[in-house]
Amino acid sequence: MLLEKFGLAHLSTGDIFRQHIKGETALGVRAKQYMDKGALVPDELTIAMLREKAAELGTVAGFIFDGFPRTTPQAIALDALMAETNTSISACLSLHVADDELVARLLNRGKTSGRADDSNQKVIENRLAVYNRETAPLKEFYAQQNKLWEIDGMGTVDEIFERLRAAVNQLAH
Ligand code: AMP
Repeated sequence: MLLEKFGLAHLSTGDIFRQHIKGETALGVRAKQYMDKGALVPDELTIAMLREKAAELGTVAGFIFDGFPRTTPQAIALDALMAETNTSISACLSLHVADDELVARLLNRGKTSGRADDSNQKVIENRLAVYNRETAPLKEFYAQQNKLWEIDGMGTVDEIFERLRAAVNQLAH
């Protein structure tokens, strides 16, 4: 919905890894071992993949990075990559959702996504633990740059979209 509204391009590292798995590439084989457990793919693989992907992309109004960066080294690498083209991150949108609601949403998505990591409660719980340990510290990283937007992620899709739309709208002006 945000892509359509603001004419942005979407870059999801999870989607790119899943394409590699489907194509049975060497990267896909390596990434799958981590993804099936709900662990993070190592930074050096993730950053190299993003660099390669960014080089393929043309000029767009902006990007939504989805599921990236997930660690401090990835955020530092992203800042460096963007600086190479004289751009920078505008904002970090952090959606806040209660853990039990996240587990319910992922199990529900697992019914149709075909993703092994959405169907197993243990794997989902590991993903939440990994998020709290590795990714949550990025809120401080972006807060220090005055780029953190904390957004309530509870409620309906339309309600959450409206909160995100209002935030992105302010950034775009
Ligand atoms: P997602 O599609 O964003 O839910 O990601 C699914 C899985 O792909 C994660 O649980 C990780 O195993 C892997 N993954 C996706 N993005 C990253 C990233 N930025 N860094 C490390 N692992 C990632």
